[in-house]
Amino acid sequence: MHKKIYNRIKKYNTIVIARHIGPDPDSLGAQIGLKDIIINNFPNKNVYAVGAPTAKFKYLGTLDKLPDDKHLEEALLIVIDTPDKKRIDGVNVELFKESIKIDHHPFIESVCDIEWIDDTSSSACQMIIELCMKTKLEITKYAAERLFMGLVADTNRFLFNHDNESTVKTFDLVKKLLMSSKIDVTPLYSNLYLRNINEMKLQGYISQNMIITENGVGYITLTEQIIKEHKVDAASAGNLVNNFNYIEGVLVWIMISEDNKQNLLRINIRSRGPHINTVAEEYNGGGHKYASGARVKTYDEAYEIVEKLDELCKEYKESLEGGEIDENK
Ligand code: AMP
Repeated sequence: MHKKIYNRIKKYNTIVIARHIGPDPDSLGAQIGLKDIIINNFPNKNVYAVGAPTAKFKYLGTLDKLPDDKHLEEALLIVIDTPDKKRIDGVNVELFKESIKIDHHPFIESVCDIEWIDDTSSSACQMIIELCMKTKLEITKYAAERLFMGLVADTNRFLFNHDNESTVKTFDLVKKLLMSSKIDVTPLYSNLYLRNINEMKLQGYISQNMIITENGVGYITLTEQIIKEHKVDAASAGNLVNNFNYIEGVLVWIMISEDNKQNLLRINIRSRGPHINTVAEEYNGGGHKYASGARVKTYDEAYEIVEKLDELCKEYKESLEGGEIDENK
């Protein structure tokens, strides 16, 4: 598969790299990193990293305007970190001569001519590192930094390790990346983890007000008023979900944030036990077994999600020996 992808990259003069809507550091790092790698390995190619930009992650680099349709007829499209067609940001797969999907989400549907799907990979960035290590693609320093940031963000600093995140393979690839690129990781961690005081205050509010259900779902409702009072936006509020892992007795945790601009409720869900993506998929969402998101219109739907996840926690605990969670495992 690696060779097949390398040969397609070598073959095409124009290459467009896309990723999912609502970008995160992993999808952006993989996209912008791969663009830099291709341009440096093949200086005569035209490579575009496309999709809506996001100010929050501008430290990862800039994005390009999609070339005219007539250029796409002879172009290769690489879709990164996106399992289904409806979540691809800003391009129509059908307009391209050929397409490749590189993704670490559980399979949803076939979208591209060539699909490399590995849901045992920690991140899309890990897959790009692997692709380069297995082919002649040399990783530039700029790309190494982006790939490192994306991988670190998706594994939450190598913390996630249920069954498909920070594996021996992850550490091995990161070791090789660090040895070959000699990047300084300190400023990269600052990019990812420096928080403003308003977000920290909102984190304090969430800790004080999180409701914990009988079976171990922790959830918080962040109304527009609360979000405004803390001077953050709905996306940053939802992002705080990553900071609530390892609360004793909480297996699944959820941020419900009002986004009045888009007239919807953003639901960010994380788990350290039950697989949550199936419930997210029922509510205009999806994601990974332990990290999912959904978008709903009403609070009734949001609380239905809480109830369904509570039921999942109950079943999960019953499936464990003795029905109790061993917090030390
Ligand atoms: P988030 O909570 O936004 O960081 O998202 C966690 C994971 O769920 C990521 O892999 C997202 O791609 C995925 N995800 C978030 N929202 C949605 C959605 N509305 N539909 C499908 N997948 C989503």
